[in-house]
Amino acid sequence: MSNLKWDQPVTLVKNIGAARAKLLEGLGIRTIGEMLEHFPRDYQDRSKVLKIEELLPDTVATIEAKISDTPEITAIKGLIITKVKVKDETGSLELVWYNQPYLKNNFKKGQTYLFTGKVTEKSLKGKASYQMQAPDCEERSKIIPGRRILPVYSLKAGLSQKIFRGFIKEALAVAEMPEDLLPEGLMKAYELPSRRWSIVNIHFPENDQAFFIARKAIVFEELFLMQLSLLTMKSAMQNTGEGKSPIDIIRRDETKLLAALPFEFTDGQRRVLDEIKEDITSNKIMTRLVQGDVGSGKTAVAMAAAYLVIQNGYQAAMMAPTEVLARQHYESVSRYFEPFGIKTVILTGSINKNERKEALEHIKSGEASMIIGTHALIQDKVIYNKLGLVITDEQHRFGVQQRSALFEKGEIPHVLVMSATPIPRTLGLILYGDMDISIIDSMPPGRQSIDTFCVGSGYRKRIYAFIQKEADAGRQAYVICPAIDNEDGSLESVTQYTKLLKQNLNCRVEAVHGKMPAGDKQIIMDEFKDGKIQTLVSTTVVEVGVNVPNATLMVIENAERFGLSQLHQLRGRVGRGSEKSYCILVTDNRSKVCKARMKAITDNQDGFVLSELDLKLRGPGDFFGVRQHGLPEMMLANLYQDMEVLKQAQQAAIELSEGNWMEAVENRGLKEKVLMYLSRCAAGM
Ligand code: ADP
Ligand code: MG
Repeated sequence: MSNLKWDQPVTLVKNIGAARAKLLEGLGIRTIGEMLEHFPRDYQDRSKVLKIEELLPDTVATIEAKISDTPEITAIKGLIITKVKVKDETGSLELVWYNQPYLKNNFKKGQTYLFTGKVTEKSLKGKASYQMQAPDCEERSKIIPGRRILPVYSLKAGLSQKIFRGFIKEALAVAEMPEDLLPEGLMKAYELPSRRWSIVNIHFPENDQAFFIARKAIVFEELFLMQLSLLTMKSAMQNTGEGKSPIDIIRRDETKLLAALPFEFTDGQRRVLDEIKEDITSNKIMTRLVQGDVGSGKTAVAMAAAYLVIQNGYQAAMMAPTEVLARQHYESVSRYFEPFGIKTVILTGSINKNERKEALEHIKSGEASMIIGTHALIQDKVIYNKLGLVITDEQHRFGVQQRSALFEKGEIPHVLVMSATPIPRTLGLILYGDMDISIIDSMPPGRQSIDTFCVGSGYRKRIYAFIQKEADAGRQAYVICPAIDNEDGSLESVTQYTKLLKQNLNCRVEAVHGKMPAGDKQIIMDEFKDGKIQTLVSTTVVEVGVNVPNATLMVIENAERFGLSQLHQLRGRVGRGSEKSYCILVTDNRSKVCKARMKAITDNQDGFVLSELDLKLRGPGDFFGVRQHGLPEMMLANLYQDMEVLKQAQQAAIELSEGNWMEAVENRGLKEKVLMYLSRCAAGM
């Protein structure tokens, strides 16, 4: 009886009534297909039955053991604890359940079961012994041989693994499995099993091998779809309809601007600028991502690109993620541009009504050719006058949605995206499949390394003294805290810390954070920049781009809370001047992962190396918010291992997209999926 369709409601599956359907809805599951695509987050391998003496603490294991005593029930602090002693020929063990008193009647002395659960260590009168926590219990006679690798799902309260496994089993039995999405030739070339087989085996793999094959197939398909969509989007964006860019770049000489800069471009900057020039003088609309480590000089490259476009009679817009940064860009860019008669305006939420009105008029009339601001630049009632280039940062990933907003205003500008988070090259190619990528791989000369230390909170007094010493020498420090207010005392907070520092230091200490009014934030940032404030306590608002060369010390509290790349970004706020700079990471976290992370950052100064390490060390989904980029969830846990599949899927998508795949009948399903993916992107989902 396999006749239920993929998009029929789950309530058609046995044992799923209204109440359970409601619980499933909480997981985003409404249809049978959605349920079968709720893939396991982990597995329990019950195919290996261990002896009690082989058990290791903090692992999930299966044993076969005999109940050696009558179950015992105790109540502590409102908790009912059921304990059962079991043994095999190698030793004995205690099983523990909480608040399930009825279990007592299930177990009789002398019975033998298979138990699967987490093994923990407890110390009794100085002697260590093991327990198994709330194990699952099975009778050997009822076990189906094979299929002993059980799925573990992400679930919400009210649904147990056992119940959900039951739903999946039932659904697998009654659902009509979907056709393969990928073209047959491709399935063969990449040795992919059918989708039916993969779906069955991702839930209930016959063995390890089957699991790996199924997982690869599913990850491959998702990535392939994503890549094909990005590639489709890329060609749609570049195709202006007339086969020619409406932006006519005839003057292509930026030497006057470069001559006015107080430094020479590095080789990396030069090369990237040439790549941009190539784009904007071709017939295509540019969508280029420029990656470069903190301080590699991306802003200068962007400025040169803007200069070129402006020289040809077009406007350029630069979008910054925060007001603080927008103002900073405005200051440096206008200083260089005004001597060339390029009028530069700023447009942010904090400028007053009159300034705003004037800026909008100047943009509309074309009097202003360089426009700097926050993301309001595309959303607002801004009317451009020949917008030729939009420069943005990766936080405003410039996608279909932004482009269509501009398109509605009649603008089809070139797009340049700046990324300060170095990511491994392969991953970059994949996440940004809709863009061309340039990398600034060299640093301006004379950049010094920043001495980085990791200490426990016991060192705080010495840190105060260090800050004081820098202040006395006329230099400045940043202190980063993960929280604004100290709600439960578990994290250092900006408010609390500022108070403490004010009491302990003999210099001016001020706080800045995201919840402050933009104007106030600006005043503090300006005073810090002017050296009127010696110590700035803040949340990560200073993370991106802020440039204060006189700052030489970066203290990061609760360093365990930040990813490697974020720590690296924060550290990049110092070491921008000629003085020796330092970064102190404070953490009391002693976990292995934290230690490895701290070692990585204290030992390495290269953002790309750190990004590779980050990829290896970070847990599921944490990696630079890759989740936002739509990578398959089941892949996130293993991004590093999946790199090979990633590359293959991309290769396959590139090959297919080079032909006229959309027209082939066999690709109808695929086309539908790609269009769906793109419309989701366009809707900003
Ligand atoms: P990024 O945005 O890549 O972090 P910025 O563009 O903000 O880096 O540049 C950091 C600092 O380095 C700025 O003060 C900038 O003026 C300076 N800078 C940029 N390019 C060079 C260069 N080629 N040589 C020396 N200094 C440079
Ligand atoms: Mg920058």
